[in-house]
Amino acid sequence: SSSSTPIRATLFPGDGIGPEISESVKQIFQAAEVPIEWEEHYVGTEIDPRTQSFLTWESLESVRRNRVGLKGPMATPIGKGHRSLNLTLRKELSLYANVRPCYSLPGYKTRYDNVNLITIRENTEGEYSGLEHQVVRGVVESLKIITRHASLRVAEYAFHYAKVHGRERVSAIHKANIMQKTDGLFLKCCREVAEKYPEIKYEEVVIDNCCMMLVKNPALFDVLVMPNLYGDIISDLCAGLIGGLGLTPSCNIGEGGIALAEAVHGSAPDIAGKNLANPTALLLSGVTMLRHLDFHDKADRIQNAILNTIAEGKYRTADLGGSSKTTEFTAAIIDHL
Ligand code: NAD
Repeated sequence: SSSSTPIRATLFPGDGIGPEISESVKQIFQAAEVPIEWEEHYVGTEIDPRTQSFLTWESLESVRRNRVGLKGPMATPIGKGHRSLNLTLRKELSLYANVRPCYSLPGYKTRYDNVNLITIRENTEGEYSGLEHQVVRGVVESLKIITRHASLRVAEYAFHYAKVHGRERVSAIHKANIMQKTDGLFLKCCREVAEKYPEIKYEEVVIDNCCMMLVKNPALFDVLVMPNLYGDIISDLCAGLIGGLGLTPSCNIGEGGIALAEAVHGSAPDIAGKNLANPTALLLSGVTMLRHLDFHDKADRIQNAILNTIAEGKYRTADLGGSSKTTEFTAAIIDHL
């Protein structure tokens, strides 16, 4: 798909540091001559009754039409009567899987230099179903919903991903010894899908043991698939293994082949507007978007420029121990293209 007609992609610059790091992505993509035309959509300032949130209907339509997009962090405004921005996106676009590649960056030293794993998080149900209530005073209840439909869908995506990306193993992460019905069903679905992929090794790892193993030797893992809350926690743990939230990309996969890439981090209000943010996480999210579009040459070129800039060590943002501004780091990446 390397034709000369540009592909339209939706861009949500988002809040806080979002516009600064989005600007960096736009400049670097332009310098690398990526054939993408951005359709920019900002979060609205009032609730759109059609989405019951600050996200506009037009912005959701834009993603549905383009089927590909990049999203900066969104700060959910506090107050009643609207839905969380990220939850609205997940629900409205049926973003059922959150894929987070996590690998050691050559040239940026952490305790580990052999991390190369992918976490795949079920993104629509589990502990995030929002079904909580008070039974009587002093007793509350939260419902963890696991369905066969959503479990098969995310398991299928994990095995498909492993196959397409030449990965050898899928580990299902669970606590089925305690959560017998819910995690039990999740595992049952993973096993069913595993049978269709005999060339991929399948294993099941209890979440507490998984945490211990990840911290001791992350090289033990390849692709991990898990229910919503476990995925939330484990993927941040993995970000910590390679240097933190400023570095880790993700991509949300939705019904009908939608891919909405996003940085894992939030809007970083403490450093917003100060030209201090590290754009790497959003940039690498953009790179996963390019790979989704089969623009592998452009993806490699940009990824190498980012990694070489970080490895060279002359220009690094404060979160990586440097003193470069966002714009200086961006210019250095463009020089490395
Ligand atoms: P945060 O990720 O915004 O910040 C945590 C810490 O990491 C801060 O010290 C921040 O300065 C630093 N940090 C984050 N990204 C960085 C970057 N690119 N470069 C350098 N430093 C970076 O988490 P938070 O403070 O808990 O949340 C702030 C807001 O973001 C909240 O409104 C929250 O709801 C929202 N949020 C949104 C998303 C999303 O849109 N996907 C994810 C998480 C949090």
